[in-house]
Amino acid sequence: MKLQTPSTRLAEGVLALQVEHAFRQLPISTLANVGNALILVAVFWNDLDHRTLLIWLTAVYSVTLLRHVMLSGFRDPVRKGARSTATWGNLFLLGALGAGLAWGAAGILLFHPDSIPHQTFLAFALGGMIAGALPLLSSLPLVFALYAIPVGLPILVRLLSSSDHIVLVMALLLLFFMAIMLVSSHRFSRVFRESIELRLQLDSSIEQQQQQALLARMDPLTEIANRRLFEEALTNEWKRAQRTHTHLSVLIADIDYFKRYNDTLGHPAGDVCLKQVAESMATAARRPGDLAARIGGEEFAFLLPNTSEIDAGVIAERVREDIESLHIAHPDSPISEWVTISLGAAELAPNAHNIPEDLIKAADAALYRAKHEGRNRVVIAS
Ligand code: GH3
Ligand code: MG
Ligand code: MG
Repeated sequence: MKLQTPSTRLAEGVLALQVEHAFRQLPISTLANVGNALILVAVFWNDLDHRTLLIWLTAVYSVTLLRHVMLSGFRDPVRKGARSTATWGNLFLLGALGAGLAWGAAGILLFHPDSIPHQTFLAFALGGMIAGALPLLSSLPLVFALYAIPVGLPILVRLLSSSDHIVLVMALLLLFFMAIMLVSSHRFSRVFRESIELRLQLDSSIEQQQQQALLARMDPLTEIANRRLFEEALTNEWKRAQRTHTHLSVLIADIDYFKRYNDTLGHPAGDVCLKQVAESMATAARRPGDLAARIGGEEFAFLLPNTSEIDAGVIAERVREDIESLHIAHPDSPISEWVTISLGAAELAPNAHNIPEDLIKAADAALYRAKHEGRNRVVIAS
């Protein structure tokens, strides 16, 4: 697989958005092409050869149709995926060039050699097509130039070869106008690209920050919450319970005789056991706001907002049974064939006289009693 550096990824992202924006403007171009070509033919209908007018109209409509077919290909996810972004960009560019050539042909085919009003009208119409295309074709570099130059050049040459000085002045104005449009388009496309780059950089740095924030709160071994997240969540739930006058419960769980487990089966097996225990615990924290975290080596904690001591005891007993029924063999445990845990549960109604630490201390003391009374059991703080 091809390796991508951040800068090539950024460049590809920018190009994709430039092409996307370019194609999104195409329906407006289609309308302008169809409508304006018709108006032009109608205006010249009584003064120019009908066959020439119809050939020109057919040329403009054919290019417009082709560009429209291209647009429907771009909008179809399957056909869009079949070509690279760069190819779509080149196709868009070719479409714009085709339209430019078709409109430029008007400067030759629809040029009335004897009527200055007709020449003025034609110059005005083609100048309008160029000006109108500026915001539609400038999201990709060069596209506007490849459209505007073929549109403007033939009529410009015709006007410049006139002997009438008013027509010559008009030609110079058109030239000046085209130069300004080309410079504007160049600036527009640069500003557009820079704004996309900034947006993409911002998006990726926000994503990175979120990723880092998540990693900092996750235990790498078990992939459940770590102590930091547990403490943050406890602080938040503590405040919420204080506001809503509800109770908050905490369970602290500790694997029994885990040192012996490691000593008999090895540290890697101990790690696998920790992962299994953590996974089971994470599924036990079911309600919104419940949180299971690994807060130490083989020590876990549960945050149970809006939960009474009795309910916390029921949940603790369920967690204890869940772990026991994982049937992880513990050959050196004096109390069971399997890996077991002891749990301490405590509840508090937060008020002005207590702190989150009190709740942890109470649950810890209950856990100590559970160990002391023989392990593989739940003790609820009195
Ligand atoms: P008790 O029933 O009283 O809790 O006894 P215990 O052996 O579980 O408790 P003790 O505190 O004596 O030992 C805890 C053990 O947990 C010691 C340590 O090797 C192990 N441990 C801590 N963190 C990890 C870890 O990330 N991986 C593994 N495999 N073992 C760990
Ligand atoms: Mg232990
Ligand atoms: Mg311990």
